[in-house]
Amino acid sequence: MSYDISLPGHVPEQIAVYQTEHLLTHNVRRFDAQQAAAKLRGVRDVMAIDLGGDKVRKATYCVSNGTLAKRDEETLQSRGGAGYLAFLERAAAEAIANNLQVGISSATKLEGSVVSRTVNLPAFFEEFTQRYGADYERLFPDLSFVANDTISGICGASALLALQGRQFRDVAFFNCGSGLGAAVIHDGVAIHIEAAHVPLMPGLNPLGQTTRCSVEGKDYVCLERVTAARAGIEDLYFQQTGEARDGVALGRMYEAGDPLATLLYETSALALAHAAVGVMRRYGFSETGESAVVFHGGNFEIATYRAAVRRNLVALPGPDIEIVFSRDLCGNVCLDGAAVLAIDSDHP
Ligand SMILES: [Zn+2]
Repeated sequence: MSYDISLPGHVPEQIAVYQTEHLLTHNVRRFDAQQAAAKLRGVRDVMAIDLGGDKVRKATYCVSNGTLAKRDEETLQSRGGAGYLAFLERAAAEAIANNLQVGISSATKLEGSVVSRTVNLPAFFEEFTQRYGADYERLFPDLSFVANDTISGICGASALLALQGRQFRDVAFFNCGSGLGAAVIHDGVAIHIEAAHVPLMPGLNPLGQTTRCSVEGKDYVCLERVTAARAGIEDLYFQQTGEARDGVALGRMYEAGDPLATLLYETSALALAHAAVGVMRRYGFSETGESAVVFHGGNFEIATYRAAVRRNLVALPGPDIEIVFSRDLCGNVCLDGAAVLAIDSDHP
């Protein structure tokens, strides 16, 4: 089949939707990247855990003079979070034995330290609720901090940039892989932003996606449904072809010039650029190069996609910002961010 891959460059209504009540936000904590970087110049060991949708990782970080060295990194891959709890129980025992403070990045919805909702981790959520009331503080007595992965990601990225001498007034962070998550640091506050779950404008829906938003109470097709890999691109590919392919395979097809994969990823990159400009305008990011946007997640392993996001961002009318891909900062900015927040939270 042939696909028309001419997309509109600028859909002003999509950017404007970020100024409306459709955008849900949550102020999580104060964060000063310079202060965090100063603490990372001391000497300290902490444990960091990154709980993602298809894998959980833990590592001990030996922090010294502004370098974060990882030791004993372990990863468990699973479906639905099966085995996550046993992995976390072993990590908790190790943290106690070694007297380590713990920072956790959790790709779940949280109320304080309690997991309140998860899309991808039903097995973990059920077990964790039964045994610990889904409360990380009951499992980790030396827990310093637990945050959503967009918060650990943005704080980790900002601290690593500060260690390189790169300071920004405002920072935005987008995690685009199986789903789409976002955060900003604005006026020294780290804010979780539901940038994915706003209505998608028809101009950015060339294949007529009809799968609705996964978040309760939102009865429309949201931006995530064309932007994220699993929730959007894989879903649309299946609708068009009847074949199930994952984001890694589709990313390779995109790089090889497959027309459908190209349309899917080019649409995603364009929608993501609109979301980024919408969020930055909502928070009044400076026009004059004092702000940065950091992109993280599986989609950015595709070089063609990184180039498309950059091209679209430059072309859209928005603030002049520095574009950073987290893979250029470190191996896993959410895990690093959990370590940064463990240290930053412990010494006020
Ligand atoms: Zn949604």
